[in-house]
Parts: sequence; structure tokens; C-alpha cells
Amino acid sequence: MDSGSLAARRSAAVARGVGSVISSYVDSASGGTIVDVDGREWIDFAAGIAVTSVGNAAPRVVEAVREQVGRFTHTCFMVAPYEGYVAVCEALNSLVPGDFDKRSALFNSGAEAVENAVKIARHATGRPAVVVFEHAYHGRTNLTMALTAKNMPYKHRFGPFAGEVYRAPMSYPLRDGGLSGSAAAARAIDAITTQVGVDNVAAVLIEPIQGEGGFVVPAPGFLPELAAWARSIGAVYIADEIQTGFCRTGAWFASAHESVEPDLVTTAKGMAGGLPLAGVTGRAEIMDAVHVGGLGGTYGGNPVACAAALATVETMRELDLCAAAQRIAALALPRLTELAARYPWIAEVRGRGAMLALEVTHPDSVGPNGPTPDPARTAALAKACHEAGLLVLSCGTYANVIRLLPPLVIPPDTLDRGLAVLAEAAAGL
Ligand SMILES: *Cc1c(COP(=O)(O)O)cnc(C)c1O
Repeated sequence: MDSGSLAARRSAAVARGVGSVISSYVDSASGGTIVDVDGREWIDFAAGIAVTSVGNAAPRVVEAVREQVGRFTHTCFMVAPYEGYVAVCEALNSLVPGDFDKRSALFNSGAEAVENAVKIARHATGRPAVVVFEHAYHGRTNLTMALTAKNMPYKHRFGPFAGEVYRAPMSYPLRDGGLSGSAAAARAIDAITTQVGVDNVAAVLIEPIQGEGGFVVPAPGFLPELAAWARSIGAVYIADEIQTGFCRTGAWFASAHESVEPDLVTTAKGMAGGLPLAGVTGRAEIMDAVHVGGLGGTYGGNPVACAAALATVETMRELDLCAAAQRIAALALPRLTELAARYPWIAEVRGRGAMLALEVTHPDSVGPNGPTPDPARTAALAKACHEAGLLVLSCGTYANVIRLLPPLVIPPDTLDRGLAVLAEAAAGL
């Protein structure tokens, strides 16, 4: 089957609302390259949206999955429990920042983890309001659509949305006039205090580096001040580390870069080598506030996914993938900075570790929110990369950010070739 005939079968069978970035169909994938069914090789700077950090068929993961699938595929942890679930919770409790007693619960997807973190925070505080931020992305279920900022394509005509969700201003140095982290935190705190009321806030929920919203890195100080304030008003500070977690930014969790110890952390994407698994981890007294039976789901913490997660964590430790993410930054950042110096339409290079981005704008044009976004040039750049066999993704509220999320195991020469393709594509615009 070639990609052309699969596309025809797809349009007759698959709902149109589910899109794909490229039109080629995958035959195999390792860690850094994907081979499609037409025999073409792609350099992978997407990692299935920051999922396959250890690669698409990491040996330890494959072996652990094979072994587990032959023993049992499912019993439901709520019916007949098994060790893998407990072991993943132990691993999460020790890896997530915070020198305190922790508990975890497992789910299937990132959105489900975020929903449960909100449930837990509301239950533990007895308060209703959830504070989220401009440009936030937390998922596509009903509650998480409400938490997500961007209308198109995530929310458009899918309402009405869940209530008691309040949006606060974000720290976005390129677009907030370069406010310091402290000033941006004060602005957000003022908005929450006056518009929500401190006694109503159950949770302050934020991505330490925003993912789908544009790889927005808040100014230093913003996150620690917000976390300390949330705690001071008796609210739960939730770090959504679904995209930033598991070595992606050069640390196990991005909160650690500013020594933030969140009350709760949500995880998914990179944690299980491509199998669907998600978690909520946090302070024992908050997690354990919920009554027995209040949390769960048929598949949450599936044994095969748990085996994959344990093998993923071992692989991350063995290969020191946090250091690998830092090496990716050391190799890629100078190359991206060089491009930004050459092309005035690159307004900014930003990110941490192997979570890097270029923001594309119209030179010499400033709108109400800073440099005028150029989504057309962004799309053209992505398209040129795809035509040359480099799989990159765009993101951002204004669809004007090109993001790099290679697998953390990408060989340096593959990374190098990918960056060369990106440079050529930029030169050809
Ligand atoms: C991807 C993502 C989610 C949603 O995860 P799903 O598994 O797609 O439901 C939530 N939060 C962040 C920060 C994400 O990047």
C-alpha cells in the first residue's frame, strides 16, 4: 500500500476532523528517522509531539511490552491490582520535584490527567475556581477545552464549555513589552485577586514552558512567585508538565529549572515510550484528600503501558537523556540563532533543552501584542521542510512558531542534517 492509496482509503473511512501534518504513511520509525510506506526517509523533529523521547521502538521498551503483553494485557487496577502500576507511581513520586511525601494516580491521556488534577484540587480545597493562562493548552475534552486558550482548531463550535475557569495574563517576554517575571506575576496575581477572589481559587494551573501555545518561556521569577502566592492563598499550584516532563527540557521536569516544587504535576507524553499513559503526582495530603473510589477509569495505568513507562525511565537514566537534551540545545541553538541573525522575519529563538522554537513575524511591523505574527511564512517554512523530508511542527496562538522536538536519542549527525534542511528551507523563502 502506498501513501496515495492509503489517503483514498482514509478519506472514505476516517473522520475529516482528525488531521495529519504530512500525507505520507509510516512504515517504520526508530529514533530520529521515520520511513514511510513509499520508502522515503524523514528526519523526525516532532517525536510524535514530544512523546518518543527514547525513540519509536526503544529496545528496553519493546522488550518490556512483549514480556508484559504475554503475561496479561489488562485486569483493571480498580478490580485486580498489579505491581507495574505501583512501581510507576513510586518512580513518579521520586522523580517529580518536591522534598515531601507524594502520591500518584494513573490515567490514559494528558487531558485526563489534567481533568483529574482539577478534580483533586477542587476536592482538597473545597473551592471551585481554576486559574489558567493566556496561550495555555491543556487538552481537548470538555473541561480541558475550557482550560485551553486557543479557539481554532481546538474549541471552535464545540461549546458550551465547563464553568469556573478564569484566564490570567501570561509572562511572554516578546509580547508583553519585556515585563520582568516579577512584574508579570504581580499583574497576573492582581487579575486573579480582583476578578476571581483569593478565597475561590482551587488551583493555579500552568505549563512551565507552554507547548501548543507557542513554546512560550516565561521570564525568570514568574513561576516561583506564582507558585509561592498560590500556596499563600491556600490554592493548589499545578504544573502541567505533560510536554515539558521526562527530560525534554534538560531536566526531569521543567519546574526544577527555577527550583519550583509544584503541589501537583501532570505527566503524559514522554513518559511511556509511545504507549498511552498519564499521571497526576503530588503532595500526599492533597492527593489523599479524595475518598476511595473517587479517582480511576477502566484503562488507567494499563499494565502494558506501565511496563513501557518503567522501561522508558530506565532508558532515560541509562542513556542520561537529560544530558542528551542539553547537548541537543548546545548543537541546535547556535544554528538557530545564526538563522535569526540572517533573517529579520525570525523575531526570536527560544526554548530549553530539546524544546526549541523560532517565532516568525513581519519585520518592522508591530501590532497590539508586539511584533506582527506571520503565519503564512511559518506555514511556507514548514511546508518547505516537509518537501525536503524534515518533519517539523508549528504551534502558537498565532500559528507563527516553528518548534523543534526531536527524540532525545536522535543521533547528532541526523540532528545536524535536519538543521541543514531547516536552514536551506529558510534560505529558499
Ligand atoms: C498534549 C498536552 C496535553 C493533552 O494531552 P493528550 O494526551 O493529548 O490529552 C495537555 N497539556 C499539555 C501541556 C500538552 O502538551
